[in-house]
Amino acid sequence: MELPETIVTTAQINDTLTGKKITHVFNATKLHRFAFFHGDPKEYEKILAGKIIKSATGYGMFIDLVLNDETIISVGEGANMKYRKPGDKIPGSYQLLIGFEDNSFLVFSISLYGFIGVYPDGVIDEIYHKQNKENLSPLQKTFSMEYFSTLIAQCSPNLSVKALLATEQRLPGIGNGVLQDILFKAKMNPKRKILTLDITEKEKLYLTIKQTLQEMVLKGGRDVQNDLFGNPGKYHTILSSKTYKEPCPVCGSCIRKEAYMGGTVYYCPTCQPLPNK
Ligand SMILES: [Zn+2]
Repeated sequence: MELPETIVTTAQINDTLTGKKITHVFNATKLHRFAFFHGDPKEYEKILAGKIIKSATGYGMFIDLVLNDETIISVGEGANMKYRKPGDKIPGSYQLLIGFEDNSFLVFSISLYGFIGVYPDGVIDEIYHKQNKENLSPLQKTFSMEYFSTLIAQCSPNLSVKALLATEQRLPGIGNGVLQDILFKAKMNPKRKILTLDITEKEKLYLTIKQTLQEMVLKGGRDVQNDLFGNPGKYHTILSSKTYKEPCPVCGSCIRKEAYMGGTVYYCPTCQPLPNK
């Protein structure tokens, strides 16, 4: 879940889950090694049963479901939520399942790693959440070129563009997924050092971040991620695990796939060259 999916899923939750009363909570069928919970999940039913979903707020990699007494259920990173209608099949494995009064339910699962937390007093006092929530989202109007330049100026000049975009939550909600298409469209190699970017390239990167994320949101997220109802988004990823075996859509070169900074990067060696500096 990255920014486009956070925005799309949050809107779907607000349309679908608002007003639903929680009746049951079921704990993990088999605990995922990298499932991180806040509080004891065995206490969740005691805390949540009888409460009503009031609204959802999305920021960066997180979605908070706010209940009628201000309790927050916060879900983030690789934790996915799927809404199922009354009578739908209950999946064989999940990390958490919340049942509603009308017999519909919300299933939480985790792919690589993910976070699920319940905060009965509605206060999330964790630095990672705070960075996601308080750092300016690249889709906010106030995320200006001036602001982006300041962000770059605060970084070490040897930082790569991948690190600029996807670490420290400088740009909340940009992760190793959406950055691939952003860098492809900006014609920048993920390993390129930020000191080699001239002002025109910085502006191009800035505009590409905004335009690519906007397009992803308008199309209901990326086709490599599913929404609240389990449907993939309609934004066709250019560079992803799904597409990298196909030639570059611009020049026909073979796409490179490499491990870089704790994740796979895909890039076209011709369209996204690495300058010899
Ligand atoms: Zn190319």
